[in-house]
Amino acid sequence: MTPKTADQAFLRETNLSTVLRLIHTQSPISRAQLAVTSGLNKSTVSSLVDELLAKHLVHETGSNSGVAGRPATWLEINPHAGLVIGVELGVDFVSVAVTDLLRNVIWRKKEDTNPADHQDKMIEQTLQIVKEAMTASKKKDGRFLGLGLSTPGTVDLKEGLLIFAPNLHWHNVPFRKIFHQQTKLKIYIENDANAAAIAEHLYGAAQHNRDFLFVFAGVGIGGGLFLNGKLYRGKNGYAGEIGHFPIIAEPSQVLCHCGNYGCWETYANQYSIIQRVQTKLEKKNDSILSALTREQNAPITIPLIKQAADAGDKIAIEVFTEAGYAMGQGFAGLINIFNPEKIILGGPLSVAGDYLLPAIKDTVADHSMPEFDRQTEVIVSSFGPDASLIGAVAVVADDVLAKPLNI
Ligand SMILES: [Zn+2]
Repeated sequence: MTPKTADQAFLRETNLSTVLRLIHTQSPISRAQLAVTSGLNKSTVSSLVDELLAKHLVHETGSNSGVAGRPATWLEINPHAGLVIGVELGVDFVSVAVTDLLRNVIWRKKEDTNPADHQDKMIEQTLQIVKEAMTASKKKDGRFLGLGLSTPGTVDLKEGLLIFAPNLHWHNVPFRKIFHQQTKLKIYIENDANAAAIAEHLYGAAQHNRDFLFVFAGVGIGGGLFLNGKLYRGKNGYAGEIGHFPIIAEPSQVLCHCGNYGCWETYANQYSIIQRVQTKLEKKNDSILSALTREQNAPITIPLIKQAADAGDKIAIEVFTEAGYAMGQGFAGLINIFNPEKIILGGPLSVAGDYLLPAIKDTVADHSMPEFDRQTEVIVSSFGPDASLIGAVAVVADDVLAKPLNI
């Protein structure tokens, strides 16, 4: 390809992506409106729309012939453009969903996993669910556009490798190769918090924000940083490991799974909350939590503590408040560094958002620079604990919107 035709192909793809993204965010929209909003001339828009129609990425949805002037045909993303498989690999669970391009869930399944198991076993369990998902959704119309996998830890996007997941103790796992061999699909790998941030930007609370942070809180705490409208990846793509920010305000006793002492997440993650509950129950057992664990024959979990808090249990509420203060310290630091428009809390701990958020906001007000806290809205993700699963879907959808010629 000569430089000129390469430039033309690039320009064509950029324009196709611009039009497709506008249809995604502003549908239903007419060709005339697309021309005005994109700044492209009407004949270019018509030809781009024809190409998107031919690729079945968009469809026409009737016309407004009732109004004066020439009737306009409305354009929308074609929900039958293809199916996306999203896989969220958690530390102690795996979630798989099949959705359309507009993230409408067609099929889903979640299974618990055992973090003590060897990685091969957990990957095999995940692949079995993926195969089940493919078989179940094959009957539906359309092609698979790709499989997105969100995982804790640092990821090499180019090689499709998980470099290191401290809470799983996994190193150098060639996820893209493994999943491609088994499914023959196009595979996308992304860090769980980054994936969730992409979902918030594409479908969620941050569609109109250029500077926001997504905080994934579960067994670990990870961050997806959107700065100047783009996901910030850092030199090697590892940026956002906010949970391993060292909190050195007190002599630390807590060893983090990353191998260091005193990381922020060890004060505010899922384990620390369960540990706080257990310590309080040993000292003073007037909580309904003991009865709940006996009744349900289950260990203490975040949903169980939430259930106790909803019933007014003092220990459960106290522990969530303490965890909220610990989280708020990290949030205040992030606000001081990045001055974001929003911080969105998601992941498994976000089910307790009603209890965590007031304490987080109080701490942010106490520890962020004067006036900074008022400029940042702290909210719970509308996707709740599914933010990284929707994120896995969003990573695929975002690439389709960016490179429609690859379809
Ligand atoms: Zn750490």
